[in-house]
Amino acid sequence: VRFIIPTLAFTLILLVVFLYTIILAFRQKKITEMKTDFINNMTHELKTPISTISLAAQMLNDNSIQKSPSSLKHLSQVISDETKRLRFQVEKVLQMSVFDNSDSSALKFTEVNANKIVENVVNTFKIKVEKYGGSISCALNADNAMISVDEMHFTNIIYNLLDNAVKYMREDTEPQLKITTRDIDSNRLEIRISDNGIGIKKEDLKKIFEKFYRVSTGNRHDVKGFGLGLAYVKKMVTIFDGSISAESELGKGSDFIITLPLIPQEDEEN
Ligand code: ADP
Repeated sequence: VRFIIPTLAFTLILLVVFLYTIILAFRQKKITEMKTDFINNMTHELKTPISTISLAAQMLNDNSIQKSPSSLKHLSQVISDETKRLRFQVEKVLQMSVFDNSDSSALKFTEVNANKIVENVVNTFKIKVEKYGGSISCALNADNAMISVDEMHFTNIIYNLLDNAVKYMREDTEPQLKITTRDIDSNRLEIRISDNGIGIKKEDLKKIFEKFYRVSTGNRHDVKGFGLGLAYVKKMVTIFDGSISAESELGKGSDFIITLPLIPQEDEEN
């Protein structure tokens, strides 16, 4: 017994160390894979608009090609659209890296009306959704929608969620998006963004807020991204003292639910 117990204990420790090393190696492999995916996606996301812009610019410059007023308009529209896309992609990566390297004191907190900001972002999305034959509706039911946030980042949060709702729409169905606001009670505001898109499996739902995590979309190679949008959204919502969760059914659609602290309104107390 004098020898068996220490030998068993030693074997157990060795086993734990061995298992721990395997888990670490596995995690490291996963992180490396995610980073490689990220670089590949980023290269694609940035290269595609750049080559389209350069092609359109070449055509504009090429005097040997006859250009009608409508083709000129089309080429300049292409350049403008692709530049916007490029700017949004670069902005997304910058947003995340800024918040990896700095603290929240760099934010500018002001009191804003969430209903107004949501409405503005929805308006900029209307054209995009209508392009696919779909629609976006807004039910701003919150009476008190005053929150204390950094306006630019709060706008980005709503923008990112709506952008995903369009990006992950079903190919055979027109996108129907809905965004609602309501006061859960006098202290908290809820913003819910619902789509009828491809949906998310239960096992993926737990991971989508992790940095670089992307759900494989099978043969739909056109849906590109960095896996950073939701990580950024979660980080910002947390800084704003809020919470974010997702509910989804595969093949039916998803709901993203944000709650944020409300600034109490004096009128309500009187
Ligand atoms: P990205 O869109 O760049 O991949 P995100 O962090 O925004 O990164 O999203 C992570 C993953 O969550 C996406 O790859 C996608 O699979 C899934 N996802 C996000 N929003 C939706 C949505 N509205 N419907 C279905 N899947 C979604």
